[in-house]
Amino acid sequence: MSLKGTGIPLILKVFLTTLLLVVLNGVPSAFGADEPTIVVESAKVELAEFPMSYFIDSSEEMPFSEVIQQSFTPSTSMLTLGTNAMVTWSKIQVFNQHSEKIRLFVHHPYAYHLKAVSFYETQHQQVLNHIDIPLYQSGDKPMMYGGTAVFSFELAPNESKTIYVKNISFSHQWYQLSLFDEEASKKALVSTGNYIALLVGMMLALMIYNFFLYISAHKIENVVYALYLISGTIWVSLSYGVAANFFGVFSAEVFQFNSTVLSMPSFLVLFIMLIFDTRKRHPKEHIALCLLLLLLVGDFIYSLIDITAALKPASTLAAIMMLITFGVSISLWRKREPLAKYFFLGHFMFIAFNMSAVFYYKGISEFNQINSHGVGIGILLEALMMAFVLSYRINELERIKGKQEELKRLADTDPMTGLYNRRYFEIAAKQAIEQAKRTKTAVSLMVLDIDHFKKINDNFGHLVGDDVIIAFGKLLKQHQRNVDIVCRFGGEEFLLLLPDCDASNAYKVAERIRLAASNFKMQADGDTQITFTVSAGIHQFNLPDESIKSATDAADRALYLAKSSGRNQVKITPTETIAIAPSH
Ligand code: GH3
Ligand code: MG
Ligand code: MG
Repeated sequence: MSLKGTGIPLILKVFLTTLLLVVLNGVPSAFGADEPTIVVESAKVELAEFPMSYFIDSSEEMPFSEVIQQSFTPSTSMLTLGTNAMVTWSKIQVFNQHSEKIRLFVHHPYAYHLKAVSFYETQHQQVLNHIDIPLYQSGDKPMMYGGTAVFSFELAPNESKTIYVKNISFSHQWYQLSLFDEEASKKALVSTGNYIALLVGMMLALMIYNFFLYISAHKIENVVYALYLISGTIWVSLSYGVAANFFGVFSAEVFQFNSTVLSMPSFLVLFIMLIFDTRKRHPKEHIALCLLLLLLVGDFIYSLIDITAALKPASTLAAIMMLITFGVSISLWRKREPLAKYFFLGHFMFIAFNMSAVFYYKGISEFNQINSHGVGIGILLEALMMAFVLSYRINELERIKGKQEELKRLADTDPMTGLYNRRYFEIAAKQAIEQAKRTKTAVSLMVLDIDHFKKINDNFGHLVGDDVIIAFGKLLKQHQRNVDIVCRFGGEEFLLLLPDCDASNAYKVAERIRLAASNFKMQADGDTQITFTVSAGIHQFNLPDESIKSATDAADRALYLAKSSGRNQVKITPTETIAIAPSH
């Protein structure tokens, strides 16, 4: 095709072709009147698309002497003839109207995917030169420049020649021939495959980036995506001549690697499974994807044994694949999976471009820039959309993580005071005890209860009662150390867990809190000031064996003692002997 083969802009190509067709009116009588002929009028020849004719040899073994007797079908030099035209002949007729001798070069930039190419230079049905390029054999290949086969011939002024090009294909027959002078020929060979190389480069960059992502985030979908890209890149490199043009490998040497056309969709299916977590969340879609994966992997394994046979059902498999993946992405979209619509869009583009390629390969639609590279374009667009889906998913996972953390916080705290709740206390107490056992340090518990709280409720109302509870919660927080855990145990009862603190030190802390509470004043309606006092009970864990339940009961008993002794005081469980007098 012209842009790839020649680097000639499309518009110029159209202009040149039109010019040529106009010139054709004056074709000399050396050729049949209805046979398309190229008339060269100057030393400058740069034709990416020109009129020629072709003949399909269905017998696949017709000798040249018979071929030249056949009737050829007029066409342009960009041709797609589908899977039934395994052996085709192109006929190029050239007449030199220029005053000087010229050397012309026929370029066959898609030769790399053929089994063999032959050129015949003829005049008046006599063969002047003949060359066979057996691409399926290893070893030196004459006339091959990267993936492009090049054949040159000379034309004296007013001389006509006919060039026949024989193409033997592996699977489907599609090619493009160009005609150049020497300078244009060199230029075309240099620029061949550049923009496909760009496409491959983009995929490589995505691939490397995803391996980095895997290293940092350990998400398996990044690996699956990178493997999809590797398969896709290999396939694109083979199919569009990057391997041929840059590394000089083509035809049978790399045909085995066409199995990547099966591994690529396998990784795509795995990607869908992982991204949408179908196994857990969408079991029906998961079964459909599993069946598809089985077919693809089965055929891939088969391709390692016999690639030609394995590629035969490729079109059917592609159709099944499109049906299932399309169905699944629509179904997920309808289930309001947030990423499904983006995936659907990417997949839609992939399928649309692949369909255009299938029509082109089968010879149903004409050769053009888009359909002749439909699979590659489809792969790249889908790959980009997959990259977007991956990054969008990182965002989504962050959001979910944030939500989970918030839920956990809510589950651990008391909404009114923001202090920890009883549930969290149990967890924290277990950890503190384990730590204390290891470090052989003391752990104390302090239970605090507001004195005569019912009266506050009765006199000022429940809402004011709530404010007192909140205010006392704040006061407790002000008196806690970093390691202490402050909980609202229920009502106006609070609990402090004091790691690395024995009963006598806990007593000092409790006294400070008690004094602070008794000095605390809260403004109610009008001039009324609310004051309150608290009582506290303290118990030091009898480590290593005492249970949390037994310790809280003991601290409760100490609190009861404080209440029964007149309130506004701190008591330690009777088992502990602490010689400190309360400060009033
Ligand atoms: P004592 O000195 O013996 O502790 O007397 P008290 O009146 O404080 O008695 P007790 O601790 O048994 O009573 C607590 C009261 O606190 C009972 C309940 O109506 C009230 N209460 C419990 N939870 C809340 C709450 O969230 N808000 C308000 N305003 N009142 C509460
Ligand atoms: Mg109370
Ligand atoms: Mg109480």
